[in-house]
Amino acid sequence: MSTRRDFLEKITISAIGLPLIYNSTNLFAAATLHEEGEILNVAILGLGSYGERVADAMQDCKRAKLVGLISGTPSKLTEWGAKYNIPEKNRYNYETYDQIKDNPDIDAVYIITPNALHKEAALRVAKASKHVISEKPMGLNAEEGQAMIDACKAAGVHLLVGYRLHFEPKTVAVIKMRQEGAFGKLNFFQGQTGFDIGDPTQWRLDKDLAGGGSLMDIGIYSINGARYITGEEPIWVTAQETKTEPEKFKEGVDETIQFQLGFPSGIVASCLSTYNMRYLDRFYLAGDEGFAEMQPSTGYGPIEGRTHKGKLTQPHTTHQTLQMDGMARIIYDNEQPIVPVDGEEGLKDLKIIDAIYKAVETGEKVEL
Ligand code: NDP
Repeated sequence: MSTRRDFLEKITISAIGLPLIYNSTNLFAAATLHEEGEILNVAILGLGSYGERVADAMQDCKRAKLVGLISGTPSKLTEWGAKYNIPEKNRYNYETYDQIKDNPDIDAVYIITPNALHKEAALRVAKASKHVISEKPMGLNAEEGQAMIDACKAAGVHLLVGYRLHFEPKTVAVIKMRQEGAFGKLNFFQGQTGFDIGDPTQWRLDKDLAGGGSLMDIGIYSINGARYITGEEPIWVTAQETKTEPEKFKEGVDETIQFQLGFPSGIVASCLSTYNMRYLDRFYLAGDEGFAEMQPSTGYGPIEGRTHKGKLTQPHTTHQTLQMDGMARIIYDNEQPIVPVDGEEGLKDLKIIDAIYKAVETGEKVEL
């Protein structure tokens, strides 16, 4: 059995030629080591409600650690700094954060701002030679997504997207069953994702900050889910929008969109994305030899579900804890999750979002 002493000895030996974590000219930071592997030291950019959920979840991570804060609100830097024990030298605002380039404490920046700000932040973080983690949707459209991929590639850093469900045990179990052929020939997927958005003044209903409406925010779960549950990429899209409250859901901000995806093997997906209905968080997959039903399918959990073989019983762990440990393993161990969470994965969803909006606008079937 390997002991802690063995481990420390190994560190000492490997420390003679201590590895650079990644290929960067300014980063000569040695890896922070933990018995389970190198630690991913993360700064969160955008200290809002989801950022707080991620920060709390990271307290239980084995491979990821919250070490920095980037915010436009000075009081949050003080409050979060005290709460999460972040030294002042690792706190930045939106004017100063390019300086993380010279901060060896920080390996990666997790961008958790309104959607329209993801791309610019990603480009700046990449330029500072730090790994980029972006919340979904990765950008506002495929063009932005591609620019983010290009910038991270040029800087030699990873680009990852906060697809927490790719690490979620019941979701992973259904994907594995599908990979093993447990459902037989797949025929149909249904994805229903939506909620009642509430406050009309929030950024999610501001086209400039959100880039759209429910589809950008919650419909993307049905898009991503249709892809990871079926394991195929859609080749066409049709879509229809309904708007019952045009005052609240202004031009360019979709309230409800129903869309259909066609896949190469003949599978069809029928999906609903909405900001104005309740109790919609459900995936259903039907094959010739079995089914999977998940409800809730995308919330913070516990995810619940059953298949033709019975109830899904995998234990619940906080999604963001699993995700951040998983991201450390991607970056340092080259260990990929069952479905990728990289920039290419984010781009695939953005291309489909672009196609859905085009289908709504034209009323036509859009080929992908
Ligand atoms: P919040 O409004 O709660 O927080 C966003 C934060 O971004 C703000 O608190 C603010 O932090 C910063 N910010 C910078 N510029 C602006 C601006 N012009 N207007 C508003 N905020 C600004 O949003 P959420 O945390 O709910 O969402 C943030 C991102 O996370 C979105 O992209 C969303 O899609 C994604 N998300 C993902 C989830 C998931 O499960 N994967 C769940 C929820 C959200 P500061 O004051 O520090 O500058």
